[in-house]
Amino acid sequence: MGEAVTFKPRRPCPICKKPSQPKFHPFCSNRCTQIDLNRWLGGHYAVPTEEDGPPSPEDDTKD
Ligand SMILES: [Zn+2]
Repeated sequence: MGEAVTFKPRRPCPICKKPSQPKFHPFCSNRCTQIDLNRWLGGHYAVPTEEDGPPSPEDDTKD
């Protein structure tokens, strides 16, 4: 039997490879959390500033 290794190697932030923070696990910061989230949603890093975007259908759904 081997030794019981309790040491957990911290995985680096998958976004920027910095040491991850428990608060933002597995990321290092809220910024990287948002970046990863945006990757899932569409791959756009930019903040949603849809000035000339298409009208949201849920905005006015009367009839
Ligand atoms: Zn990061």
